[in-house]
Amino acid sequence: FPAQGGEFEAERKKMVREVMADAAVTALYVGSSAISPSVIKAMEKVERHRFVPSGLVPLAYLNRPLPIGHGQTISQPYIVALMTDLMKVKPGDRVLEIGTGSGYQAAILAELAGSVYSIEIIEALGREADARLKALGCRNVKAKVGDGYYGWPEAAPFDSIMVTAAASHVPPPLIRQLKRGGRMVIPLGTQFLTQSLMLVEKKQDGSITSRQILPVRFVPLTGGHP
Ligand code: SAM
Repeated sequence: FPAQGGEFEAERKKMVREVMADAAVTALYVGSSAISPSVIKAMEKVERHRFVPSGLVPLAYLNRPLPIGHGQTISQPYIVALMTDLMKVKPGDRVLEIGTGSGYQAAILAELAGSVYSIEIIEALGREADARLKALGCRNVKAKVGDGYYGWPEAAPFDSIMVTAAASHVPPPLIRQLKRGGRMVIPLGTQFLTQSLMLVEKKQDGSITSRQILPVRFVPLTGGHP
């Protein structure tokens, strides 16, 4: 994300302070750690107002989700920061995101990873996000329209995978496309019941462990998968 400083810088910094305050509270109650400095830096840099509908620009730096059309949302900044932090992205990593939505999360990941692959099931949103990311100069993001349940086998394996819509179970194709030692962050549960943000890890011996992080509320993972 080449642009720095610029418009709404003070608002963005305030939003990041709120994100850090939320993270401190979560750390107290569920034991997750504070958001790492590299994630904070990415959140301070990426201009969220470029990813929301024009009428919502004045609300872009509130620490809350916003509608982006087609019944979908751009996630709350705190949740973006927390999920990104849980991925422990290192420079050069290859990362997969399911649910491109506005492209904001992909742009945050692009600050930290070597390459980001992102899949969106709603064609209009996917195309719009792809054009936006290109226009903003995010050259290390590849976006496509499709059902993310099946992942992106041609680009696999991934160091980490983030699913930004709630699934009933962890999609087996995504487990297969995760590297050994890799991490996946995914909300599990149904639309009307409590969902849990889960951290799934594939250990070096290939075994899978999972840990519940926080109750969350996401739009459902759709598509024709089982
Ligand atoms: N990460 C997005 C952002 O930064 O704006 C927000 C994602 S929004 C909470 C969830 C997105 O997942 C929606 O855009 C939705 O259309 C998409 N989605 C739902 N099911 C999907 C699937 N099976 N494959 C790919 N995308 C899916």
